[in-house]
Amino acid sequence: MQVPCIRPRPRRPRPDGTGPPGGRIPRRRLAALACVTALTFTVSTSAGTGRLSPGTNTAGAGPIALSHTAEHGPCMIRGAREVQMSEGIPTSTGYTRSTGTVRALTLMVDFSDAPGQGDAQDRYHEFFPQTREWFRTSSYGRLDYRPETPIPGWLRMPKSFREYGIERGAPFDPGYRAMVQDLVAAADPKVDFRAYDLLNVLVSPNAGPSALDTVLSVTFAGNPEAPTADGLPVANASFVYSRQDDGSGSYDRTGYRVLPHENGHVFGLPDLYTAEGGGAVGHWDIMSEDWGANNDFLGWHKWKLGWLDAAQVHCAASSGTTEYTLTPLALAGGSKLVFVPLDGRTGYAVELRTRGGNDEAVCRPGVLIYKVDAEVDTGMGPVTVQDARRDSGGCTRAPNVHAELSDAPFTPGESFRDTARGITIEVAGVGAGTGAAGAGVEAGYRVRVTRE
Ligand SMILES: [Zn+2]
Repeated sequence: MQVPCIRPRPRRPRPDGTGPPGGRIPRRRLAALACVTALTFTVSTSAGTGRLSPGTNTAGAGPIALSHTAEHGPCMIRGAREVQMSEGIPTSTGYTRSTGTVRALTLMVDFSDAPGQGDAQDRYHEFFPQTREWFRTSSYGRLDYRPETPIPGWLRMPKSFREYGIERGAPFDPGYRAMVQDLVAAADPKVDFRAYDLLNVLVSPNAGPSALDTVLSVTFAGNPEAPTADGLPVANASFVYSRQDDGSGSYDRTGYRVLPHENGHVFGLPDLYTAEGGGAVGHWDIMSEDWGANNDFLGWHKWKLGWLDAAQVHCAASSGTTEYTLTPLALAGGSKLVFVPLDGRTGYAVELRTRGGNDEAVCRPGVLIYKVDAEVDTGMGPVTVQDARRDSGGCTRAPNVHAELSDAPFTPGESFRDTARGITIEVAGVGAGTGAAGAGVEAGYRVRVTRE
């Protein structure tokens, strides 16, 4: 199926210091509406291979490789009805494969009314090598993301930017279809599109409004109806506009993060921000907030993307009490995720989040608990973090990070209860209990799950 997903505009403090506490201005209603109104495409039943287009048969290509055993069955939640980009496991086919070597065709595109200024390679280097490194770190080395620029300079489009009629929330037809057709025609003499798994279009930053006014960046994923290139549809493509400067002064370090977010969609992940902004997931996943301090994916997404082994994911489906030792999500190896299924479509995910790897803004390490619903659409809140400290204001000092949920993790001695469902998730202590690694966070947290 085809999902255009609009990322929200960054929030920035108002220079005059007015506005909500902390200068954070959630302004995402437009984003969510744009996402919803654009979802008018037919559902595709074609089985994609994960290449740019369904149908190719390159070695190593294929659906997202989920690692699981029969014991994970009750945790492989699915929506009863078809949703655009479900959190269900496994991910639908048609998206880009998220393990192994993935080749990202990256084109820098400009227009007569928005000519590329300076070297197109400078535009490229706003996103690379950081995006490649971000995926390497998040995937524990399982995703070897290779950006390639067979056309190193600006690729001039035949029409002006204005003529394509691209606005925030613009659907694929007609503007993007025309743009893809034109860029394929322009690049085709030098590019074999069949060699790539996804397409990144880095538009000249002066095309369209500033990211501080509106964010145009968008991804069309799993779209078999897209124009063809070298005989195959350009099914998974991310378009990045303007400079995603959130005004916090961290652009040089963090401005690239719009691209891992957009590419998250080509791998089949939904938007986790909602009309209310980052209130559902905060800064705990790049599909929720992709600006400001670096942040990782949720463990649920890592399992979904094929970055966790079956042995690293525990399905807490049976009644009684079971204890698990979770190691920090940012570190390779060990148990990463416990999932407590509620029914065939929902459940609680449990993971240990600490400062490390891509998680640079964690101010209160601990056990993050969140509800996953496979039947909720992208941008409508498919994931909800359970806040261990409601209305605390949070612990982060990082600019443009949703503050309230920054201290959401549960710490030793604390418990989460769903009394209606008879479920208790208790953080029993720090350390694996083996005595070898001491009491450091690296040794893990012991988590006890009780199902009545
Ligand atoms: Zn998005």
